Amino acid sequence: MKYDTFIGLEIHIHLKTKSKMFCSCVNEPWAEPNTNICPICLGYPGVLPQVNGEALKLSYILADHLNCELAKETTFERKNYFYPDMAKNYQISQFEHPVGKNGWIEFPFKGETRKIRIHDVHLEEDAGKLIHAGDISLIDYNRAGVALLEIVTEPDFASGDEVEAFLRYFQRCARYTGVSTANMDEGSMRCDANISINYPGKGLGTKTEIKNMNSPRFVKMAMEYEQQRHGDILDAGKTVVQETRLWNENRDITSSMRTKESAHDYRYFPDPDIPVFKPDADFMIDVRNAKVELPNKIADKLCEQLDLDYDTAWQISETRALAEYYLKLSSLGVEIKTAIHWLQGYCKSLAIDEEFIDRISPNDFAQAMIQLQDGRINKRMLKKAFEKAYRDRIDLTQALSEDCLIEGEELKAIVLSLLIEKPSSVQEIAEGNNKQMDYLMGQIMRMTSGKAKPSAARSMLSDEIDKLAKVTA
Ligand SMILES: [Zn+2]
Repeated sequence: MKYDTFIGLEIHIHLKTKSKMFCSCVNEPWAEPNTNICPICLGYPGVLPQVNGEALKLSYILADHLNCELAKETTFERKNYFYPDMAKNYQISQFEHPVGKNGWIEFPFKGETRKIRIHDVHLEEDAGKLIHAGDISLIDYNRAGVALLEIVTEPDFASGDEVEAFLRYFQRCARYTGVSTANMDEGSMRCDANISINYPGKGLGTKTEIKNMNSPRFVKMAMEYEQQRHGDILDAGKTVVQETRLWNENRDITSSMRTKESAHDYRYFPDPDIPVFKPDADFMIDVRNAKVELPNKIADKLCEQLDLDYDTAWQISETRALAEYYLKLSSLGVEIKTAIHWLQGYCKSLAIDEEFIDRISPNDFAQAMIQLQDGRINKRMLKKAFEKAYRDRIDLTQALSEDCLIEGEELKAIVLSLLIEKPSSVQEIAEGNNKQMDYLMGQIMRMTSGKAKPSAARSMLSDEIDKLAKVTA
């Protein structure tokens, strides 16, 4: 490689809090525009922001998972700049004492483990949203004031591929730890990236920052585009201009947006309305207790305990709950290949989410597999039962037993053959003897070993007897 490449990321995630960062408005940015707003998040003069304790806790939890030094005292500053979707003309953020700093995280990349340093993790509020429609622009303030956690990495990435892999990994970490849904297409995870290249061994070059990328793939593409562009500039003996650029996803290029501000342009100063936060012992116990195994450890565990290759293990551990589900199935004697076959194959149309896992217990799943092997049920029945359990919110065993019941044409044939055998019963029922009806029901149950669907059998009996009565009348 002719040049060394250095890429750093600024990842923003919405925290999974009920309310916004400094007011009690509901944290639902997707709601009807401008419905989750109040004087605080609209920045009216004289209002007092109050820090969301849950947001602080989630921030410490994530910073802890990123091996950061956790702040013993954390403060909030005002970051001053004008933007139309930010009513206050400043953003409350953290500068001097962020929640966490000097951390690191490991992630799997091309069969190896890569380690990335984390510069800091800081908590801030999101801005509103501008919607451009032809000649006019609209503002939706639902998102203004939503708790936003920013994770700043050191420029430790060397390629677009690596950045893409990391973002997918980080996304999973944010979900595993329960701090964010981290959906990039919904805007609950966003990413800016900075990149510089230089002659080998010369260290960092002049960087450009790229904004407006809403998928890991676009970040990769933008980085590769910039790598090439910087290379062409250096090849021509010129110097790269430090600036902020936008990714244009329609043209697959970046274009200049503005020359980059430095920190002093923002005139950070302590927010006089927000007291210093000092986590107490109970708070820190909660933070430590929230520690979970990160996706790479879980994938390793699946490889080891279920004898899987890494790619398969990664695929089946999209959520922690799902990974645990597979481990449980395996401990109940379900062959892992069969489980994957069912969950990733036959059940593909159903979202294998927490709800699915909740409804179809590992025990029920294991029982169904035994029944399948014994030939008591077939694949079609089981597939239907999965769908039914999921759709009707019932458990799998119930769905299976309902599915096993004989109804429809099969039941009708049994009913008709019985009526031919028992003309006297038909006669008596037609004359109003309802006891004969119970007798016939008993016969049907006997003929089907109790598997006839009772309500269907009863209505078929009375329909067919009515028809016969009309014919004879
Ligand atoms: Zn509000």
